[in-house]
Formats: sequence, structure tokens, C-alpha cells
Amino acid sequence: MIKTLLTNLSNGDTTATALCADALKKAQNGRAFISLFAKQALQYSKALQERINKKDSAPLLGIPIAVKDNILYKDHKTTCGSEMLKDFVPSYSATALEKLLKSGANIIGKTNMDEFAMGSHSDTSVFGRVLNPYNENYSAGGSSGGSAAAVAMGAVSAALGSDTGGSVRLPASYCGVCGFRPSYGTVSRHGLVAFSSGMDTIGTLGVTPRDCARIFKVIAGVDPLDSTNNQTPKPDRKLHLKDCRVGSFLEELRPETDSDVYECVRHAADIFKNTEELSLPLSQWIVAAYYILSSAEAAANLSRYQGFRYGLSAQDPDFYDNLIKTRTVGFGKEVKRRILLGNYCLSAGYYKGYYLKARNVRAALTLKIDELLNRYDLLLLPTAPHRVPDLTKPRKFVGSYSDDKFCAVASLCGIPAVSLPVGTDKNGLPVGLSICGRRYDDYTLLSIAGQLYDALKKEGVMR
Ligand code: GLN
Repeated sequence: MIKTLLTNLSNGDTTATALCADALKKAQNGRAFISLFAKQALQYSKALQERINKKDSAPLLGIPIAVKDNILYKDHKTTCGSEMLKDFVPSYSATALEKLLKSGANIIGKTNMDEFAMGSHSDTSVFGRVLNPYNENYSAGGSSGGSAAAVAMGAVSAALGSDTGGSVRLPASYCGVCGFRPSYGTVSRHGLVAFSSGMDTIGTLGVTPRDCARIFKVIAGVDPLDSTNNQTPKPDRKLHLKDCRVGSFLEELRPETDSDVYECVRHAADIFKNTEELSLPLSQWIVAAYYILSSAEAAANLSRYQGFRYGLSAQDPDFYDNLIKTRTVGFGKEVKRRILLGNYCLSAGYYKGYYLKARNVRAALTLKIDELLNRYDLLLLPTAPHRVPDLTKPRKFVGSYSDDKFCAVASLCGIPAVSLPVGTDKNGLPVGLSICGRRYDDYTLLSIAGQLYDALKKEGVMR
């Protein structure tokens, strides 16, 4: 927990250098990191320690933090887990990362992820699949699997990830940590490599919801470099867990949910006293709408990788041959699948049938969910319908697509959501409960998640 580390640092019970060395040692495991800045981070920790000695009050002073490898860090490789950007070194840093640095964080490395953040198991990276810290055969979740594993392994107390359709919440759930997706528009996307610009957010992963809140507080705020980042989160309404009006989709989704997963989320949900069961609006269209819209935006965003501006180049003197060769070699199978799907849905003959319909589903869903959130403070659903998948067993990629349904609700609506570990499935792997909050009411959501975390901890549900 960041709070404990800060206390230990200010009491002199530990030093920024000791924390950094420990983080670097643990970070070696499980292919959680694509790059580690061992020398630089250790060196920097000495400067941070001097500031601690002088009683500097920066909020993350001396805390080791990990950052997903699709968030730009000036003069440090940013690969997106792709052949296309394997050697790409950005000339500027993302706003969120700049803010971390200003707050005294020590960035120890960049974490592994699904290629261009497309996936649910962190298994499409050119650097190899991230291993689940509980059991290597199982999925670490994706696409921010490296950030989730880094927290779960104890290398860092918190990390940055990105969440388009669940990429912070799903790995948080599979690795047994907390994952927070903020309201769309509250954190700058400047310097986050674009997947689906209308849904991409920079989210936080931490041991507790309070860790997520601490990092969020640092990175939130309006940034002139991102025109969609125009919202300041509202102050915490200081609600008590017992007084919350809670809407639950747990019963409605029970037939789609594994029974052991259901039992865990039910148990946690019952800690709330004032809960009503609701039906999920437009339930059968959510996955299709999410995949059509996100792939359409991905196809447009990825058109910038042409083999001559940045990233890989096949070095063919012919413009079109170079373009084709670069993209053939540079993108993996899943990324190509999304480009094909996206361009198909946007093509002149089909965009009315797919893209426009998906936009209508999104608009209608947002309206209905906002209506519900006028009546309820929070909405509950499992983070994932199934227990953590065993990756040594054969899988179908479309199966992973439908597993994104629950997370896609908050993504399509742009509302904040937290995934909290609430128990273990029959294989002993973690289960997550997702709590969605009102738009821009992120601090209230995180504070209630913190109260639920404490209640579950008292029962011994948390590790
Ligand atoms: N699993 C989702 C997808 O593959 C989530 C991706 C994300 O949130 N970046 O699209």
C-alpha cells in the first residue's frame, strides 16, 4: 500500500533506494515487464531520498511505479507489445506520466501488454505472454496484464494501465488486485497510443482502491493537449457503504456467470444493505456494439503505421510495396483481425448496417444507464463472466470477445468503474466484482470501493 510506504519512508524505516532495489528484483518475474530501467531508477532513487530527507511533500515521493508500454516516456522505448514499434523511442512523454514524475514517483519500467492493447489475456505481445502470478498456466488478463501482475507480484504498489473495454479491470480481476477505469474525459490521453479514442482511458491498478485513488488524484485534471480531457472529477460525496443505493445486475447475469464466480460476487454484494436487482439494458447488443466501434476506431488510428513516419519500415523503395510489407510484418494476427473488422464496418456499403447501428446502441445504453444512475449511487456486476481461463487448454478468440461484455458497459457509457478482488474460484484463482459509479463521481466510487475492501479484508477474503 502506498500509504504504508510513504509512512515508512518518512519515518526512516526504509529508503527510496531500498524500495527501488526490491521492486527491481521482484519485477524480473513472469514477463510482466518489457523494459526495466534498473540503473536509471536506482540512480534517481538517491535524488528522491534527498528530497525525502528535506521533508519535501510531493504525494508519491520515492514510490516505485510501473507504466504500461503504450504510454509514452520520452527517450525510453515504447513498444505497445508490437513488432511495429519494437524500436520506437518517443520524443515526448504522456501527460499522465509527466504528472507521475512531478509527484516524485520512481518509474521502474514499462509493462507487458497485448499488442496495441487488443486482447484479454496479455498473450498477443511480441515479448511473450504475461504469466499469472497465482499460476503460470492461467491468464493474467489483458490487455494491461503486465501492470496487474507487477502489482500482484509485489513489485510495485501501483501501476498505470489503459482501459478501452476492460483492459485495466479484467487483468485486475484475474490477478487479484484493484483496477480503476476513470470517467472518460478526466485523465489526459495525450501520449497514450490510440486504440479506440472514444473509449480509451488511462486507468490505475493498485493493491487497494486507495492506491488507485492516490494515483488518480495525481494524473486527473484538464490538459490543453487533449481536447476530450475537459472534465474535472467531482468531490467525494462521502457516502457510507451502508447508505448507498445500489443497483445490481448479478441475478440478471447469473445464467451467463460461472457458479463459483457468482457465489463470490454475491457474497461481496450482500455487504451493501440497500440493493435492488435490475435488468441490464440492451444486454444482447453490448459485445457487438463494443467490438464494432472499437475496431472501427482502431482501423482508423492504426492507419498511421505506414512504414515511413515512425516505427518499423520494410525499406522498400516503392511506396505501396513498403506499406504492404511493413504492415504485413509489423502487425500480429489479432491487430490485423481488428483492422479488417473495423474497415469492413466502416465501408460504404456496410457502415449503416453495422457502424451506425452500433453507435445507436451506445447512445441508447448510455441514456438508460445514466437514468439508472440517477436512482442508484452504484451499479454492480461481475468483472468477468467466467473463472480465470487456463491458457494451456484450447480456446476460441471469439470466446474472449464475449467475456468482455460486463466490462464493456462502463466503456460504452464513459462512466467510472472499479474491479475489486472478492474471493477465489474453484481453481483458487481470484474473482473480481465491478462497481460502476456516476459520471465524474470517481472519488465517491473509489471511496466506497475502499470501504468494501476493508469489510472484505476483515472477513479474510483479501490476501
Ligand atoms: N479485451 C478488450 C479488447 O480486446 C479490451 C481492450 C482494452 O480495454 N484495451 O478489445
